[in-house]
Amino acid sequence: MSTMRAARFHAQKDIRVDEVPVPTPGNGQVLIDVAWCGICGTDLHEYLEGPIFIPQCGHPHPISGEEPPVVMGHEFSGVVAALGEGVTDLEVGDHVVIEPYIIRPDVNTGPNSKTYHLSQDMNFIGLGGHGGGLAEKIAVDRRWAHKISKDVPLDEAALLEPLTVGFHAVERSDVQHGDVALIGGAGPIGLLTAAVLKAQGVTVVMSELSALRRQKAIESGVADHAFDPRETDVVEEVKKLTDGRGADVAFECTSVQVVLDTLMDAVRPRGVIVVVSIWGHRSDFDIHKLVMKEIDLRGTIAYVNNHPATIELLESGKIDLKPFITGRTGLDGLVDEGFDTLIHRNETAVKILVSPSGEGL
Ligand SMILES: [Zn+2]
Repeated sequence: MSTMRAARFHAQKDIRVDEVPVPTPGNGQVLIDVAWCGICGTDLHEYLEGPIFIPQCGHPHPISGEEPPVVMGHEFSGVVAALGEGVTDLEVGDHVVIEPYIIRPDVNTGPNSKTYHLSQDMNFIGLGGHGGGLAEKIAVDRRWAHKISKDVPLDEAALLEPLTVGFHAVERSDVQHGDVALIGGAGPIGLLTAAVLKAQGVTVVMSELSALRRQKAIESGVADHAFDPRETDVVEEVKKLTDGRGADVAFECTSVQVVLDTLMDAVRPRGVIVVVSIWGHRSDFDIHKLVMKEIDLRGTIAYVNNHPATIELLESGKIDLKPFITGRTGLDGLVDEGFDTLIHRNETAVKILVSPSGEGL
């Protein structure tokens, strides 16, 4: 039996590069040679505080049936290496990105579903089982492999997954062309949400503590303004930019209370606030303000049938993801270089990509 290298989560602060069997594509599956896999904030949380999405030892995930060790990595691109039985609409050599879902087989995941991502026991490839992108190969159900043009570089394509998180958040906001949006936090998701907004003709204002991240937001062209909330009254600036009205929409991308408070003050009456970040604690905010401004506070999680639209954005050249790739490493550098940079020097990095085969490094 042939083997391959894969980064597997064994326990908190215990991720190892293991030799594991190469998967064979089952009925309706495709085998993919992984090109690039991004490291996500979720991966860091699993490493530092997990298992969270990853099942606990002794408690296998109800759909995948897996428990640690599990292969990590859910933001990846690759090349089709083999087709399982019944797959006739892809060819070996096609470039693909993965919508990394683990969803019960009886859930409708058809093109008109708006809710499959909210179905019971939903989890992600690379967290809840079913392999991951931090391995040389993976077999995935055809449903979750999206073909992309060979004109899109595979490294940029690895950012399509977090870009689609931003796309779904923007969709949830019902923002209109010409609106003004305020984003709290210029981490990877804040920046990619900004990229989607800019591509839709929205004026983007960002509030961010890190000077390096503000610089990235401006230099990459995804933000029109980036303010340091310690030095600038962000609410006042937003009012100046909107003739005193306030932002039409706002995106909370930090899970920090004071940021949510700022967004509450900065949105216009009947403005929409979308909470994009994962909150590990309860929030405490001025519900009276929400009532008196008729603020519309909305959640968003992951994506649902949004990949075709984000792939089109990337293929059309309306979004350039290159500026957000700030580092590259192999599986051996995953923890010592990749995780370490993102944990200890995270303002210097946006997205670090891993090449599981080492190709392209
Ligand atoms: Zn992620």
